[in-house]
Amino acid sequence: MAGGGPKKPAIPATETDFDLVVVGGLNATALLKFLQAGEARYKMAIVTDSSKFVLPETYFTCMHEHIPLLKLESATVTAQVEAWSRANVGSRVTEYKPHENKLVLSNGQTYSYKALVLNPGFDHKSANLSGLLDFENEDRGENRVWGHVIDSKQRVVRNRYHGWNHPAGDMICYSPAHPYKGEGTDFYAFYYEHFLRQDQLQGRSSRSAKIQYWSPNKVISKFPYMNEVMLDECHKRGIEVHLGWELQKIAYNTIGEKIATFKCVESGKIIEKPFISANINPPSRPHAELVSSGIASADGTIDVNKYTLQSKKFENIFAFGDVVGFDTTRTQQGAVAQNPVVKHNVSQFLDGKELNAIYDGYQYMPLYLGHSYGTSFAHTHDFEPAPMNHWVPHYGVFSNAWFKRFTKDSQKAADKYTSFKKNDGPPHYNFKARYVPLQHNEYLQSKGVRPEEVKMFEPKVRVHDHHDDHHAHH
Ligand SMILES: Cc1cc2nc3c(=O)[nH]c(=O)nc-3n(C[C@H](O)[C@H](O)[C@H](O)COP(=O)(O)OP(=O)(O)OC[C@H]3O[C@@H](n4cnc5c(N)ncnc54)[C@H](O)[C@@H]3O)c2cc1C
Repeated sequence: MAGGGPKKPAIPATETDFDLVVVGGLNATALLKFLQAGEARYKMAIVTDSSKFVLPETYFTCMHEHIPLLKLESATVTAQVEAWSRANVGSRVTEYKPHENKLVLSNGQTYSYKALVLNPGFDHKSANLSGLLDFENEDRGENRVWGHVIDSKQRVVRNRYHGWNHPAGDMICYSPAHPYKGEGTDFYAFYYEHFLRQDQLQGRSSRSAKIQYWSPNKVISKFPYMNEVMLDECHKRGIEVHLGWELQKIAYNTIGEKIATFKCVESGKIIEKPFISANINPPSRPHAELVSSGIASADGTIDVNKYTLQSKKFENIFAFGDVVGFDTTRTQQGAVAQNPVVKHNVSQFLDGKELNAIYDGYQYMPLYLGHSYGTSFAHTHDFEPAPMNHWVPHYGVFSNAWFKRFTKDSQKAADKYTSFKKNDGPPHYNFKARYVPLQHNEYLQSKGVRPEEVKMFEPKVRVHDHHDDHHAHH
C-alpha cells in the first residue's frame, strides 16, 4: 500500500534512462500502477499508444446492454500512473534493441532500461482482413457485417446488438488462425443461435437461416475439454462447423451479394461463399518490430519460461498477456493472473534475487450459450482442467444465474483492475502476494518440476541506489 511521507516529484518528460520500462496497454498500465503502490523505488516508464482502453470483459456485454456502456472503458493511463513514473502515452516503440537494452520511440526519444516488461499483444485490427473495413465504413451496422476488435467505443456503438437479426441465409462466425486475440472468449455462435431459434419459431426468420462457424484452425478451442463440449453443443443446435478454412476476403459481387472467399488450409482450394451476416474476428498479426528485433518468434509470440514469464533469450525481458509463447488459451483473465507473477519476478530480478513467483497457467473462458445463459471453463498449464472448470449446467436457472452474476462480477473485477485507485493489485489487492522459495512451491512439486528447470540465469543486483533511498526513509 502507498506509504506516507512527502509526495514524490514528477519525473521530467526528458528522462530517458530507466530501471524498468513496460510496453503495452491495459495490463502494462495496471502493472506499473501496482508496482508504484508497492515498495516501488525504481525509475520506471510506460510506453503505450492509447490513453485508455476498452475492457475485454465488458466488450460483448455492453453491446448487448447487459451492462451500461459507461462501464466499457478503463481509467486513463495518466489517472492510473502517478507522475513520478514516466507515462509516455500516445507513442509507440518503433525499434527494440535488446542487445543494447534500448528502445526507440515514435516521438524520437530513445529509452534505456535495466529490465523490460512486454505486454504488446498482437497487431489486431479490421484492416487485417481484406474488405472488412469497407463494410465497416459503409454504414452503422445495417449491412450485418461486424468486426470483433476491441479498439474503441465507436465500434461498440456500431456493433450494437450484432447478430440478433439474421433473417435468412447463412451467418458466418469466423475465428482466425492461432495464436489470436480472443481465442478463449470470442465464440458467440450459441448466443446468435438462441435469437435465431426464437425468430424462426415466430416466423420472423426463414427456416433455412443458419449459423455457421468457420476457422482455419483444426479445433474451436485449444482446450480439448472445452472443444469437445463446444462441438457437441454445435451439433445439437444445428450450428455448422467448418474447420480448416481460412477467410481471405469479403466483398460484394457484381449483383450485390456478399461473398466470402475461403481457402482450404490443406488442399489450397478456393471457394466463394455467399452470406447474409458475418461476425468476424480478423487475423492477429505479429508486431513487426518485435519479430525483427529477435525478441519474438515469427508468429509474434515471445518464448518465455511458462512459470516465471522471463524471456528464455534475454534475461532482462519479461512478457505477459497474449504475447506469451507457450501453448495456452489466451485470455484477459489469464493476463490478470500473470500480472502479480511478473510484478514480483521483475522486482526480484532488479534486486538480484531468485525469481520465485510461479504462474500455474490459469486461464478462464466464459461461454455464452444464449441471450442470458452461459457456462465457463478454466485450465492451468498443459490444458489441465482447473477445479471450477465447467461447473455450471448449460440451461435453466443455474445457467441463467451464472450469466447474470458473471456479467456483473467480471465487470466489477475489470473495473477494480483498471481504476485509478492505488493498491497492490491481484490477487489480493489490499496486500501484496507473497511467494515461497522455489523448492517449496507446491505447484512445481505437484508437476515434478525441479527448481533448476525454472532458474535460467544467475541473479545479479541491478538497482542499488534507489533501494538505499528507500531504506533511508524508514
Ligand atoms: C472480441 C474480443 C473479445 C474478448 N473478450 C474477452 C473476455 O470476455 N474475457 C477475456 O478474458 N478476454 C477477452 N478477450 C481477450 C483479451 O482481449 C486479450 O486476451 C487481452 O486483451 C490481452 O491483453 P494484452 O495486454 O496481452 O494485449 P492487448 O490487449 O492487445 O494490449 C496490447 C497493447 O500494447 C500496445 N502496443 C503494442 N505494441 C506497442 C508498441 N510497439 N508501442 C506501444 N504500444 C504498443 C497495443 O496498442 C495495445 O494497446 C477478447 C478479445 C477479443 C478480440
